[in-house]
Amino acid sequence: MQCLPCAMSSPGALLQPQSAVGWRGGDHWENLVAIPCARLHRGNRKQFSPLRVVCKDYPRPEIDSTVNFLEAAALSASLRNAPRPSEPLKIVIAGAGLAGLSTAKYVADAGHIPIVLEARDVLGGKVAAWKDKDGDWYETGLHIFFGAYPNVQNLFGELGINDRLQWKEHSMIFARPDKPGEFSRFDFPELPAPFNGVLAILKNNEMLTWPEKIRFAIGLLPAIVGGQKYVEAQDNLTVKEWMIKQGVPERVNDEVFIAMSKALNFINPDELSMQCVLIALNRFLQESHGSKMAFLDGNPPERLCTPIVDHFSKLGGEVRLNSRLQNIVVNDDGRVKHFALTDGSIVEGDVYVSAMPVDILKLLLPESWKEMPYFKKLSKLVGVPVINVHIWFDRKLKNTYDHLLFSRSPLLSVYADMSTTCKEYADPNKSMLELVFAPADKWIARSEEDILDATMLELAKLFPDEIAADGSKAKVLKYHIVKTPRSVYKTVPDCEPCRPLQRSPLRGFYLAGDFTKQKYLASMEGAVLSGKLCAMSIVQDSNSGALLPVLPRKTMSVTR
Ligand SMILES: Cc1cc2nc3c(=O)[nH]c(=O)nc-3n(C[C@H](O)[C@H](O)[C@H](O)COP(=O)(O)OP(=O)(O)OC[C@H]3O[C@@H](n4cnc5c(N)ncnc54)[C@H](O)[C@@H]3O)c2cc1C
Repeated sequence: MQCLPCAMSSPGALLQPQSAVGWRGGDHWENLVAIPCARLHRGNRKQFSPLRVVCKDYPRPEIDSTVNFLEAAALSASLRNAPRPSEPLKIVIAGAGLAGLSTAKYVADAGHIPIVLEARDVLGGKVAAWKDKDGDWYETGLHIFFGAYPNVQNLFGELGINDRLQWKEHSMIFARPDKPGEFSRFDFPELPAPFNGVLAILKNNEMLTWPEKIRFAIGLLPAIVGGQKYVEAQDNLTVKEWMIKQGVPERVNDEVFIAMSKALNFINPDELSMQCVLIALNRFLQESHGSKMAFLDGNPPERLCTPIVDHFSKLGGEVRLNSRLQNIVVNDDGRVKHFALTDGSIVEGDVYVSAMPVDILKLLLPESWKEMPYFKKLSKLVGVPVINVHIWFDRKLKNTYDHLLFSRSPLLSVYADMSTTCKEYADPNKSMLELVFAPADKWIARSEEDILDATMLELAKLFPDEIAADGSKAKVLKYHIVKTPRSVYKTVPDCEPCRPLQRSPLRGFYLAGDFTKQKYLASMEGAVLSGKLCAMSIVQDSNSGALLPVLPRKTMSVTR
C-alpha cells in the first residue's frame, strides 16, 4: 500500500497517472482508502499518524530488452518457427504443473500434439489453488513473479496476459524482530544495475552497520571477481559455512541470510547451499528490474494455467485431469511402451515426458532404470516440506503494505495481505494474510490447530497493536492450511551435479520439472524453462531423426 503523501513526493509516481494501474481496475483516485499508513518509513512507532493511502500497481518494468529476456524470446521463436513435422508426434506428458504445461505449450508451438495427464482435479501442481464454500481461494503457495524471470515473462506475453501481473514498488521490506511492528526497507532507485542494488543496501542502516556491510562486501569480492566458476564451486558449502570461511559477521546471517534462505528454499542457512544464494544474487542484481516483484492478479489455475491449456488445446493438444500415472511400462529394450494409469487405462504415444515432482518420479522408475547413473543420482534430490497458511480477519489490518513482506520470524518466511496485493482477493474491509510457514519439517505432521496457534503467536509480534495470540484483538474469521510435505528439492550442498538434463539416455523419454538442469533455481521460472528445454530436446531429436527407432509410430490410444 502506497501512502499518498509519499507517493506524491516520490519522483514519477503521480507524474504518470496514466501508467499507474488503478486498484480493481478503476481510476485510482477513486480508490483512496482512509486508513492509517503503515509504520514503514521511519521505523518510529510514535510517528504513526492517520494518512490517506492509495493502493496502486506499478507499470510493467522495462524488461523486454534485457539479454536474458531476448534469449528466452529467441528460444520461444525457435520452437514456433521450427520446421513443421511431416507427421506430428503424440507427446504424452505426466504432470500439469508449470513444467508440464510449458512443455505442452512449446511442443504444440512446434507442431506436435501434447496430451497432458494430471493426477489431480486441478491444474498447476505447486501453484494449484482451490475455492472454498464461501468462494474464497486458498493456494499451495504464496507466489511472487520477478523481473528476472525471462521465460515466465515471455510466456505471459505470448499468452497475451501481461496485464495479469500486478507489479509492486521496487523494494524489499523486512520486519524488525528487535522492534516488533516495525519494518526496514531496501529501496531500489531508478538506476542501472548493479548500482540500484548497491545503493539500496548502502542506504539501509537499520539492518546492517557500516563495518558489517564492508566485511560482507569483502566476503563477496571473490564471487564478483571469480564469476560463474566461483559460484559453481560454492555448491559444496552451506551458507553458514561460506560465511565463516569468508569472515562475514554472524549478524549478517541473522539479519539477512536467514530470511533469504527461508524465502529461497524454505530452509535455514546452516542447510542451504551457498551456490543457491549466489545464483539468486546474480540473477536479481544483474538486471535493473531483476528483483522487482509482481503478484498474479488472482488464482493461478484460472489466471495462468488455463490460458496455457487454451493455447495448446487450440493447436490440437489436451489435458486430462484425474489421470494419475501408476507405472511407466517398458519394453524389453528398456524404452517406454506406455504409461499405465491408476484407473486401469493405458496411454500410448510417440514420446513420453515425466513432468512430475522428483520424489514421485523416483517412486515410479521402472526397475531396469534404477541403476542407470542418470536416474540413480536423483536420490540426492528430495523435496522439502513447507506449509502455506491463510487467515481471514474480521478487519483490515493496518500494519501491512501492498507488497511482499519478509517476516523474519522463527516459524514464518514471507507473507502478504492478499486482500491488498491481489485484485481477485481484494477486500477493502477485511484482511487475508497468506503466510509461508518454514522451515516446516517439525510442523508438517502437526494438527492445523497447532499450526494456526503457532502462526498467531508470531503474528502478535508483527502486529502488536492489532493481533493477540489469544484472539482478543483482530478476530480470525476462518483459515486454510495447505501442507506440501515434499515441495521443491532441498538445495543442500552438492545437489547441482545430480540435476538431470531434460533428454534422458532412453530414446523417446524426457524429463521436465523445476529440479531438472537449467540455470534458474527450483522456481516457477525454472519450471517454465525446463519445459521449454524439454520441448527443444524433443523437437531437435524429432528433426534430426534421433527418435526414428521409436517408430513405427503408434497412434495415440487409450485402452481400458
Ligand atoms: C509454498 C510455496 C511457495 C512458492 N513460492 C514461489 C515463489 O514465490 N516464486 C517462485 O518462482 N516459485 C515459488 N515456489 C516454487 C514453484 O511453485 C515451483 O518451483 C514450481 O511451481 C514447480 O513446478 P513443476 O511443474 O516443476 O512441479 P509441480 O508444480 O510439482 O508439478 C508436478 C505435477 O505433477 C502432478 N503429478 C504428480 N504425480 C503424478 C502422477 N502420478 N501422474 C500424473 N501427474 C502427477 C502433480 O499433481 C503436479 O500437478 C513455491 C512453492 C511453494 C510450495
